[in-house]
Amino acid sequence: MIDSATLTWTCMVCGDERPDPAISVAYRPMAGPLEQAFPQAKWNVRYCNDRPNCAATAHEEGPWLGRPERRKAEETSNEDKD
Ligand SMILES: [Zn+2]
Repeated sequence: MIDSATLTWTCMVCGDERPDPAISVAYRPMAGPLEQAFPQAKWNVRYCNDRPNCAATAHEEGPWLGRPERRKAEETSNEDKD
């Protein structure tokens, strides 16, 4: 049985583990090959509904590409390759 008082989810924007009432879900298109394979499919992006930055990032336009920090890290590592 699921106890909603102890149920937690990880925010896909900031990465924090939050209690169930603090997490909402945004539906975003998939990117690249996944979108071509499953054009009707959507990412369920979990985000903190009490943190404006998380909510804004979760509802950005376009496909969901992953957490902002991870995107930044990938950009940086590409620059390092030269
Ligand atoms: Zn968050």
